[in-house]
Amino acid sequence: MRNLLKGIALFCFLAGPLAVKAQDTKFGQLGQELPTPNTYRTASGAPGHQYWQQRADYTIKVELNDQNQSVTGSETITYTNNSPDVLTYLWLQLDQNIYEPNSMSNLTRTGSLEERMSIQAMERLARENFDGGFKIQAVKERGGKALNYTINNTMMRVDLPSPLKPKQSFTFSIDWHHNINNQLTLGGRSGYEYFPTDGNYLYEMAQWFPRMAVYDDVNGWQHKQFLGSGEFALPFGDYKVSITVPADHVVAATGELQNASQVLSSTQQKRFADAAKSNKPVVIVTQEEATQAEKSKASAKKTWTYAATNVRDFAWASSRKFIWDAMNVRVAGKNILAMSYYPKEGNPLWGQYSTASVAHTLQVYSKHTIDYPYPVAISVHGPVGGMEYPMLSFNGYRPEPDGTYSDRTKYGLISVIIHEVGHNFFPMIINSDERQWTWMDEGLNTFMQYIAEQEWERNYPSRRGEPQNIVEYMKSDKSTQVPIMTNSESVLQFGNNAYGKPATALNILRETVMGRELFDYAFKEYATRWAFKHPMPADFFRTMEDASGVDLDWFWRGWFYTTDHTDMAIEGVKWYTIDSQNPEFVNAQKREQLNKAPQTLSQQRNLQDIPRTLVDANPELNDFYNSYDPLTTTAADQQRYQSFLNGLSPEQKKILDSGMNFYEVGFKNLGGLVMPLIVRMEFEDGTDEVVNIPAEIWRLNNTDITKVFVTEKPVASFTLDPFLQTADTDLSNNTFPRRLAPSRFELFKQQSQQPQNPMQRQNSSSRSNQRNSTGQ
Ligand SMILES: [Zn+2]
Repeated sequence: MRNLLKGIALFCFLAGPLAVKAQDTKFGQLGQELPTPNTYRTASGAPGHQYWQQRADYTIKVELNDQNQSVTGSETITYTNNSPDVLTYLWLQLDQNIYEPNSMSNLTRTGSLEERMSIQAMERLARENFDGGFKIQAVKERGGKALNYTINNTMMRVDLPSPLKPKQSFTFSIDWHHNINNQLTLGGRSGYEYFPTDGNYLYEMAQWFPRMAVYDDVNGWQHKQFLGSGEFALPFGDYKVSITVPADHVVAATGELQNASQVLSSTQQKRFADAAKSNKPVVIVTQEEATQAEKSKASAKKTWTYAATNVRDFAWASSRKFIWDAMNVRVAGKNILAMSYYPKEGNPLWGQYSTASVAHTLQVYSKHTIDYPYPVAISVHGPVGGMEYPMLSFNGYRPEPDGTYSDRTKYGLISVIIHEVGHNFFPMIINSDERQWTWMDEGLNTFMQYIAEQEWERNYPSRRGEPQNIVEYMKSDKSTQVPIMTNSESVLQFGNNAYGKPATALNILRETVMGRELFDYAFKEYATRWAFKHPMPADFFRTMEDASGVDLDWFWRGWFYTTDHTDMAIEGVKWYTIDSQNPEFVNAQKREQLNKAPQTLSQQRNLQDIPRTLVDANPELNDFYNSYDPLTTTAADQQRYQSFLNGLSPEQKKILDSGMNFYEVGFKNLGGLVMPLIVRMEFEDGTDEVVNIPAEIWRLNNTDITKVFVTEKPVASFTLDPFLQTADTDLSNNTFPRRLAPSRFELFKQQSQQPQNPMQRQNSSSRSNQRNSTGQ
């Protein structure tokens, strides 16, 4: 019985690791997690042969009231049903309703109070004073007959007078009015800023009109409420928008200006034409002209008309404070206007960097995704820190009033412009569902932003993209993390989860898992397949595999569906060399080891305490073994060795003579993520070699493996991930033998005042030098 049990135990031990089922491991295919492919979305990740999407075309008239900061608008929407379904109602997004005092966003915002609070925080809490939200004045059929509608928080259902069949269109109109939020106190993705020194307003207008929601093959109507994080899911269409503003305002907007001769002076028109031919920014409205316009408030009005084709939204900005510059960018043989609008408060930074950043973004993103298809790309400076719309973005970062700025401000400005202009590609054109999946636009865009930043200047201080920059997040408390595949409104650590982690994951795919060639081809294929369409996560996952031939299910599973992190360790190394059996060599080696063996403490003390042993004092106690040296090679040893050699084939002799080293290295996966092993071996002679092992090495055992390395030269040390490619959260267990890495204490004194930026420090030291040299 006992023997039998022992036999079974041994059997189980051997069978254990082999019995792991493939689908139970981290290498199981993403079967259940992804939707079943169909004729709309294929298993390859491409749109299916019956893919369809809806369309919404808009004609809008809007007037800005600069006296009381509000807009009044009227729109005509033509909605085309390309789905195979019959629709009985339509859903529209009323995002301004987030500002209603009883909006779901306001009611569900959790909060706490502290004894010390900033004025801004108090103002935010007191936002009930702002009379926000859409005031819908009319919803009418083309003939003028009122339509039934129901408002549910930030969504509005319009009941159709008769069912809308496939391929049919329905035209209706909406009149509305809404107050504009003070962006500096109430926040938001749009709003106004008031400049007390000259008494003027600058308006950044977005989510300013009732917009059609998306109806698609995955969600039906995407009418998840707008709570503040999940952005906008919108169908494509053409826009014609007439914007009436005070006559001394300059208006930036999505699309192309249709009536330049009515709104621009002849000088401005000429400069505009020059800019369209220049590969450096040309100023269309100068700082002097903008400063002049600030001084008098026009009572007359002007209407700027813009048209945009195949866009999913429309935004605009207006102020008499705007300086305006533009330049031409060539992308794939087409001319595009890169433009910037900014108040004088943005200079000198904005004049130097904004339009250059817009142009750079279009070039780099076009190379990696699709050629930028729109005629213009715009960066506007106002109160909004960073927000994207088709062809137009709002960007923050302003120098100090004295014109100096920190490096953080400079690179912050370039980065935010790259990011927001980059959003033209994700999600304005490759139009993912932002309300559901923030990572699909923010993550992919942040990845591309990193690539564009690194192409801006060598060692550009990118915040996100490098694996080592995500380590702190990856090792943060797991109760504060959720997988990337989480709905936008439930994402914790938003910036790290939806921007940093997916951007880093893509960078790791590109540099380490797939290689640049396979990755770049597949990423471009995804952009090409889904440009001007509505991709879902599965379409991205599948396309990246389909176009590259790399099985990435393990990678999506680990990085996108879990909160595991990378912590791989070298557990131990066993070193074997070939026993040549040459007695001369073997004995010499053994003698060396013997000589190196440490003396025990007792041995050391006895050398002192026992000057003579018994045998020392009594030579008659010596015999053969007192002088026998077992490590002396005898003739018999030599003979035995020779007959061993004679029995070997030439190939076997070669291996015996090679002096090869064999290392069995143990690796442990402590973090959970299975990742490639990048192993550097540093040899005793100072040279090194790097071995790249695919993540599939973990496929039979996700936690403990050993791997044998065979080298001609003896290895002095092994290092795992020497080039920081895997976001490994603990580097102290990545070397063998272990190395000590110093940590530093940070000693600091609390500073009460904001420190001067380096430009200010240099200015003040050169001023004091001047004083010293002139003796004042
Ligand atoms: Zn973004």
